[in-house]
Amino acid sequence: MDRSTPPMKALYQQLILDHYKNPRNRGELEDRTVEVHMRNPTCGDEIKLQLRIEDDQIVDLKFLGDGCSISQASVSMMSTILKGKGLDEAHQVARRFTGMMHGDEEAARDSTLGNLRSLAGVAKFPVRVKCALLGFDALQEAMKKQQEEEATAGS
Ligand code: ZN
Repeated sequence: MDRSTPPMKALYQQLILDHYKNPRNRGELEDRTVEVHMRNPTCGDEIKLQLRIEDDQIVDLKFLGDGCSISQASVSMMSTILKGKGLDEAHQVARRFTGMMHGDEEAARDSTLGNLRSLAGVAKFPVRVKCALLGFDALQEAMKKQQEEEATAGS
């Protein structure tokens, strides 16, 4: 009798498919403070990320998107981790995830990445790395945009 647990790879594939088919936080965020639209032309992925940032905290976020399972699962997983996080923490998660996508094995074991760790295997496929990073590219652009707008509003 085989009592062994399913291989990690299969579990990871299930997680990615689940987020792709049932994306979390998908939709329009009515009371957003910032919005960014990002495209990955090499694969045809698109993400529109909307955030409500108050006092350097991500109060809420939603996304709309279209594209491959890696890009859409990645942004869905990202959204579940970032809600309620401070901008410093969000930057940290983005740095860790980017590191993991560039083969940093220590980052791949970082529990703060949660389900995003299921995408670690993508690092072996350079063409798909852009897909996995698209949501975080949008996040970093959105945080930058918000800061710039706040700086302009304050002057
Ligand atoms: Zn893609």
